[in-house]
Amino acid sequence: MISNDLQADLQTEVERRRNFAIISHPDAGKTTLTEKLLLYGGAIHEAGAVKARRAQRKATSDWMAMEQQRGISITSTVLQFEYHNAQINLLDTPGHQDFSEDTYRTLAAADNAVMLIDAAKGLEPQTRKLFEVCKLRSLPIFTFVNKLDRPGREPLSLLDEIEKELGLQTYAVNYPIGMGDRFKGVYDRRTQQIHLFERTAHGSKAAADTIVNLGDPRIEQLLEQDLYYQLKEDIELLEEAGSELDLDLVHQGKMTPVFFGSAMTNFGVELFLNAFLDYALKPYARVSSMGEIAPSYPEFSGFVFKLQANMDPKHRDRVAFIRVCTGKFEKDMTVNHARTGKTIRLSRPQKLFAQDRESIDVAYPGDVIGLNNPGMFAIGDTIYTGQKLEYEGIPSFSPELYAVMRNPNPSKFKQFQKGVSELREEGAVQIMYSVDESKRDPILAAVGQLQFEVVQFRLQNEYGVETLLDLLPYTVTRWVVDGWEALEKVGRIFNTMTVKDSLNRPVLLFRNEWNCQQLEADHPDLKLSKIAPLTS
Ligand code: GDP
Repeated sequence: MISNDLQADLQTEVERRRNFAIISHPDAGKTTLTEKLLLYGGAIHEAGAVKARRAQRKATSDWMAMEQQRGISITSTVLQFEYHNAQINLLDTPGHQDFSEDTYRTLAAADNAVMLIDAAKGLEPQTRKLFEVCKLRSLPIFTFVNKLDRPGREPLSLLDEIEKELGLQTYAVNYPIGMGDRFKGVYDRRTQQIHLFERTAHGSKAAADTIVNLGDPRIEQLLEQDLYYQLKEDIELLEEAGSELDLDLVHQGKMTPVFFGSAMTNFGVELFLNAFLDYALKPYARVSSMGEIAPSYPEFSGFVFKLQANMDPKHRDRVAFIRVCTGKFEKDMTVNHARTGKTIRLSRPQKLFAQDRESIDVAYPGDVIGLNNPGMFAIGDTIYTGQKLEYEGIPSFSPELYAVMRNPNPSKFKQFQKGVSELREEGAVQIMYSVDESKRDPILAAVGQLQFEVVQFRLQNEYGVETLLDLLPYTVTRWVVDGWEALEKVGRIFNTMTVKDSLNRPVLLFRNEWNCQQLEADHPDLKLSKIAPLTS
């Protein structure tokens, strides 16, 4: 029997939740923006202090410094903060060195994405790749164009690039006034007000701003004439030629609201956060084996989107990160594990992200919980109460790096096999095998170099096996969806390697896109896919 109280409670909590991940290329300013969002969210009071300590540009060390400073616990998985009575969950996608499949998988747990772009560089490779995943899931995308305090490209040309290259309609919610040394602030099209900011040292405090209406005569004193005219001209152009803001299109991932600013000096960060709060999607219905299922569905359910092993060999526990999709999670609750049919009591759930490190009591749709359950979970697993349901799995994404891994020491054969199989199950790396039966060494397939290093490190530390890697020259992966029989008869294809994935499905590896296109042209009936087809 579902109580009205639970229903009302769920409704309120879902209403006030916003969950997102930031997609960007290294150096665009993700760490800086995150810090500033926390600053405005009240989770930290002085961002500069954290920044200054940054000996090494690694997000996790920042968080650790922050943890010590404020006594709050933040991991690189979820940052949770309250803002204007909303509960904001920032799912962190690992940065530069850590680019791995986790980056993609995190997007499976996100309801919205913030695309962060360096104004001088425009769209960069990693952003484009992550955008593709967002597109696959039709995630709403909010664009923040950063570093306007430095010379950059024309704002209109950046909008144009997003439209043409990503096929996204744009709507500039605010518009920059000047750039580089002459970056004075932004014009907010929502209120038709100009925000002129003052710089603080390293943007350590919230930027003070003076707000004036567009037609206000004080503008003449506050802003140089040429900047004012430029602004008026650009705004007119946008009003005439640009699209209207259409929230339905935004929510379908077809239009992106664009914001300009500078995370470092805090210009535009607050305006962005406010608009994001208004426009972002709240946790919404997800596709499951029971059909689309709304977050207000009173039974608890969620899925595993990330597994993290403790790198410390003394604590070989693994944490499974679960995105809560429906119902209310409560400590000590008993849930069913869809894949294995087992019943599990969630007795030690961790709140890995909020004000303290105590185990959590409750969580709602849009939240993430960490479960300390070694070996039980695989990426994509569903847990639930009530009637059985399963969420669509998380697809395997197109690897771009390949290496054959060998174990030179025959006496370690068993450990090697076990390690490889466990790391594969955990999703640390994809494993493929050559179709040539005489070659049984596993082929590691990764989206980032770090995955290879992690696998080798862990095989040595946790399984006692030293391994050798031979890099392979392939960069493009395609799963064969249709037409495999005909292709198999062709035999060896020039410049291409055929492998089988862990589910024994044929996969083609190409040296480059061109080779792939050639094969497709030669075999029009062949149907290839960049991501692994879902099996469930
Ligand atoms: P990440 O790799 O995306 O996490 O980028 P970081 O936040 O570490 O920023 C990369 C570099 O750009 C650092 O040196 C930052 O200080 C700098 N940066 C970030 N935001 C801004 C900005 O708004 N203006 C300027 N001028 N520099 C910025």
